[in-house]
Amino acid sequence: MSIISKDLNRAKQLLESNELVAIPTETVYGLAGNIYSETAIKQIFKTKERPLFNPLIVHIPDSDYLENVAMEIPEKASKLAKKFWPGPLTLVLNKKPTVPVLITAGKDTVAVRVPNHPVTLKLLKTLDFPLAAPSANPFGNISPTRPEHVEKYFSKKIKMVLDGGACKEGIESTIVGFNGEDPIVYRLGTLSIEEIEAIIGPVSILNKKEVLPDAPGMLERHYAPKTTTILSDSIQKTLKTLEYKKIGLLSFGPKKNFPEVSTELSLSESSNLEEAAQKLYDAMHQLDAIDLDVIIIEKLPETGIGRSINDRILRATK
Ligand code: AMP
Ligand code: MG
Repeated sequence: MSIISKDLNRAKQLLESNELVAIPTETVYGLAGNIYSETAIKQIFKTKERPLFNPLIVHIPDSDYLENVAMEIPEKASKLAKKFWPGPLTLVLNKKPTVPVLITAGKDTVAVRVPNHPVTLKLLKTLDFPLAAPSANPFGNISPTRPEHVEKYFSKKIKMVLDGGACKEGIESTIVGFNGEDPIVYRLGTLSIEEIEAIIGPVSILNKKEVLPDAPGMLERHYAPKTTTILSDSIQKTLKTLEYKKIGLLSFGPKKNFPEVSTELSLSESSNLEEAAQKLYDAMHQLDAIDLDVIIIEKLPETGIGRSINDRILRATK
């Protein structure tokens, strides 16, 4: 029997009994548990096979709730929260002593966001605790953007995926932390650097290598299909190097229809970057399920969310 269900009451009951429920958000599906339940949090790490040094994002029902989990909030963080919550922005802030260190991997900071999905917002409002929810995929695999992706990964490990349909945004939240009052982007994501800078001025972007222990989203190989994957800015050139292989192509813009390619999907036939973000992981799931030797993904323009999508594709190719 399918574990996918719209039963909000059952989700609430499971979470109140220290169990895990996969929840929909506008970015990707999350594997959620009560942040104050040691049983639930340990189960999240175990289910995902995620190393304990990787902290989890805390999901709260609204901005007013923030003071229950974070303190000493920089003014620029408040401005961003006011503008973008609910939405695909995660803030890393000093944690309240009551937030368990299991969530924060022993750090004094906690990552927090208000997700923008009606079903999950409703759920969060009926619970009297926030939800820790990393993406609902085994560590390093492609993130789930449909309830069926989660079911494929975890049908034997969790009891329920709360059905909220396909995720609207499709790639993870943008993570912003602070050094004093200075904003630093820890992970590129749905919210573009341009949108952030329009509200708080210039931000720095953390060097990948430096953040390794802090941000698994920054791990070099991540979000990856099982099939060998190549990021290409000249498909014709890449095809020449791949003779006799069964090739899948994930293109951008109108379909290219190369004779060497056995399956082609376009991330957006009208070259729309938001549509490409929304479709990226589902297209990767689809191509990975076919028996291909290699997947070529066309590099997108490095502007706005295109930069974040290229970041994810690059990590899938390592
Ligand atoms: P996921 O939910 O799987 O997309 O991953 C959660 C992301 O939030 C990871 O990249 C974490 O490293 C990041 N994160 C969570 N807490 C912190 C923190 N205290 N400092 C820096 N990054 C964090
Ligand atoms: Mg993840």
